[in-house]
Amino acid sequence: MLPPLLSKGFCSSTSLKNAMYSPGKFSPGYGKRTHPNPLKHPPLIEKEVYLPLSQDLKPGLIIRSQSGFFSVQTGDGILVCKLRGRLKRGSKEGDLAAIGDRVFVCQIAGGEGLIESIEPRQRMISRLAPLPRGEYEQIIIANPDQIVLVFACAEPAPRMRMLDRFLIIAEEQSVPVLIVANKIDLVSMDFSRDLFDHYGELGYELIYSSVPNREGLAALQEQFTGKISALAGPSGAGKSSLLNAIQPGLGLTIQNVSQSTGKGKHTTVSSELFPLEGGGYVADTPGLKALALWDIEPEELDGYFPEMRALVAQCQFSDCTHVHEPDCAIIKGVEQGLIHPSRYDSYLRLRFEEE
Ligand code: GDP
Ligand code: ZN
Repeated sequence: MLPPLLSKGFCSSTSLKNAMYSPGKFSPGYGKRTHPNPLKHPPLIEKEVYLPLSQDLKPGLIIRSQSGFFSVQTGDGILVCKLRGRLKRGSKEGDLAAIGDRVFVCQIAGGEGLIESIEPRQRMISRLAPLPRGEYEQIIIANPDQIVLVFACAEPAPRMRMLDRFLIIAEEQSVPVLIVANKIDLVSMDFSRDLFDHYGELGYELIYSSVPNREGLAALQEQFTGKISALAGPSGAGKSSLLNAIQPGLGLTIQNVSQSTGKGKHTTVSSELFPLEGGGYVADTPGLKALALWDIEPEELDGYFPEMRALVAQCQFSDCTHVHEPDCAIIKGVEQGLIHPSRYDSYLRLRFEEE
């Protein structure tokens, strides 16, 4: 029998069928990682999509997620939606939908709807939360175009270990990175360059900025426009100030939402994409800080440092730890200035110290 909503004629069964992935695609293992390096082996992403033929279904973007309710931005406004029941199969293993997911929804009443299907994800940032029975994959954000990492050159002094950790997460989850070195007005240009220039040389996008002097803000705005950005960085680095400077009020809004949810119970975690006037969205992702490097084996860590990745094959021993071995290409690389000492230090700490 059709569920009551369908029998009211809101979504015909034909349109439903056409909007679905082929049967069995939402297997319980959906989205589960099967290999430690999705860079080489992307997470399971559905290839086939059956586009809806019916006009009853609207394409949209999930811009807010809270306790099983999703706000979906469609061409004609925002609908507050739940997932269609059959989509929930397999939800014990992980989130089925998250902010950044592109979906098809069926409007059921005024501002309400049901999510009928979720489009294949290009990428996502997720974490595995331990549960009494196995693990649950929590999606922090789906389809981010970039992670924007904001660090201050001073006040607070940047913690390069934290930055390197974020970069490993970005490498591991295959998300492009933009590093913002903020508060350059507090230090000399030489000082900030010594801290951050080598990241630019590694291929990461890098912007030096100052809110009071409005330096770098136009470049930052350009980098944000038209993209879904996940924002992260230590508190006090200037994230809110930067957002306020490129779009008045934006930083303040995000801060208020983060504070109200951060203090709530564990179960009321909400996340949100904030629209940018020029197109695109920004999400604050405080959860990124707590992300453990869960599926990286210690002996694979060097593979997430682009400057080491290229050299490891030249180490004499294939299981080289790059600490004491003779003929180690990484140690030589540090001596020859190919690897920045601070990056090597991060490697050693992440590999040999308890997190
Ligand atoms: P958030 O915690 O990362 O959102 O940081 P905030 O935006 O709240 O900024 C923390 C403090 O740093 C505030 O007092 C800001 O006024 C200050 N601040 C932010 N950006 C700059 C900057 O470029 N230069 C200087 N001198 N101060 C800044
Ligand atoms: Zn080595």
